[in-house]
Amino acid sequence: MSKTQVIAVDGYSSTGKSTVAKRLAKHLKFVYVDSGAMYRAVTFFALQNQCFEHKKLNRSKLINLLDDIDIEFKFDHNSQKSVILLNQNNVEEAIRGMQVSNHVSYVAEVQEVRQKLVELQRQMASKHSLVMDGRDIGSVVFPNADVKFFMTASAEERARRRFKELQQKGESITYDEVYQNIQKRDQIDTSRQHSPLIQAEDAILIDNTNLSQEEQFEVMLDSISQVL
Ligand code: C5P
Repeated sequence: MSKTQVIAVDGYSSTGKSTVAKRLAKHLKFVYVDSGAMYRAVTFFALQNQCFEHKKLNRSKLINLLDDIDIEFKFDHNSQKSVILLNQNNVEEAIRGMQVSNHVSYVAEVQEVRQKLVELQRQMASKHSLVMDGRDIGSVVFPNADVKFFMTASAEERARRRFKELQQKGESITYDEVYQNIQKRDQIDTSRQHSPLIQAEDAILIDNTNLSQEEQFEVMLDSISQVL
């Protein structure tokens, strides 16, 4: 089998990584992988299994349960989209709400969780060419990725976009709550001990505060075309 290729799309929360990564994957005929969904699925499991006590994560309880967590992606013919399965159950919708968003960065700090998910991510790349979005894809998971992007935008713009998305889904939430959640996650993600969110030296910085989705897609595709 010929060597697979990897496009890494990292960056801050709610910078539109998944939207553009999906579009690039479709265009390139690569598989799209949402690594954030994997951390969210583990968080959903942790919440269901009472690993949070008084809002604090009981790390050893979660670590002891890690072997009971099975995560895979599957193409869902109803929605015509790839969905994430946690122990064979479709949790694609369940992991997107504020409850998981408010807990996920604590779970993502746990080294054993990261080791398990990074191994899975690398296995995926051994089978298919990928566009993967996340926080540590270009810096840790695939340091030799073919192209790396690092996405940013102002916190206000990111909160505005996310708020709109959650409102459209019918979630009852204020702009302030979304803004606080984004700030908090960025703070934990950038300061954690293991695999913090950083821009890899060879990553291309994309600030999309003032870019339309179309402009951003074209800029990124152009960078990819120069390499692949
Ligand atoms: O991408 P998304 O916002 O869904 O990711 C949810 C959370 O998962 C992030 O805030 C971060 O804490 C964690 N994450 C991570 N490493 C990744 C992807 C996500 O730590 N590669």
